[in-house]
Amino acid sequence: MISTPIIENIEGIRNIVKDWKKNGLSVGFVPTMGALHEGHLSLIEKSKSENNKTVVSIFVNPIQFGPNEDYKKYPRQLEVDREKCQKSGVDLIFAPTLNMMYPEGRENITEIVPPDFFENKLCGKSRKGHFKGVTTVVAKLFNIVQPDRAYFGQKDAQQLIIIKKMCRDLNIPVEIISCPIKRDVDGLALSSRNAYLSEKSRLEALSLNRALKIVENLYNSGEKNAAQAISEAKKEISSDISIEYFEAYDYNSFEETKELKAQTLIAIAAKVDNVRLIDNIILEK
Ligand code: AMP
Repeated sequence: MISTPIIENIEGIRNIVKDWKKNGLSVGFVPTMGALHEGHLSLIEKSKSENNKTVVSIFVNPIQFGPNEDYKKYPRQLEVDREKCQKSGVDLIFAPTLNMMYPEGRENITEIVPPDFFENKLCGKSRKGHFKGVTTVVAKLFNIVQPDRAYFGQKDAQQLIIIKKMCRDLNIPVEIISCPIKRDVDGLALSSRNAYLSEKSRLEALSLNRALKIVENLYNSGEKNAAQAISEAKKEISSDISIEYFEAYDYNSFEETKELKAQTLIAIAAKVDNVRLIDNIILEK
């Protein structure tokens, strides 16, 4: 089997995609920062089921990391990722160099800035500038790859909402498809950052998902008061974990809500042994 081609250069990928489109083939796109796991692979699978061709990008994007975040130590493993892509039937990997993406440097570039309304909530509050780094790189990647559809995980719920909004506001002709959160058998949401966890901290991290489940169970048994349910669920979280937020949002309006109802997003972010993890659930019915 020929291994999945890795293209570094922008003209190269544009020409291939142009040819595909000339031949009437649809193109699905899965942007990632690599260190691929089953969560990423589920996005790839969905793209493959809905498109003739699937492109995966692997790029650790410096402009979405804060100065004290893990940009330098973020896991990079292109060859392992290539094998996973090959097994999953990915047609092409776009893995640009830093210089290819930011040839004039990372300072003074034109940025896509999400509205404050989205920036000042949840992850936006503690990761200043993070989302404009994401929207800027995703807009660049969309312009480079020019896919018909792009696949994003519900795990990064706020990112998904912001990217959908960006495409609506800027008339970007890419359909954004959201994909459910993939978890380990024990419930931990898969994340490239789980690799940083020790055995002990990984066990502690499981309490985050248990806490979300408690809110869900309370809601299913009639609790409507968000603060009450969240305060009950917090008791489940190990005292070694520092909670950054644990909040209820109306998923449609993206406003914080006091009342639990269908389509309420319960989102949590916490540091477990200095590893920042996020998880969420959306209440049904
Ligand atoms: P990342 O490589 O962390 O930038 O993630 C690339 C894409 O994979 C994003 O759309 C994420 O939301 C998605 N993703 C990451 N973890 C998961 C997961 N556990 N389940 C589903 N999608 C995920």
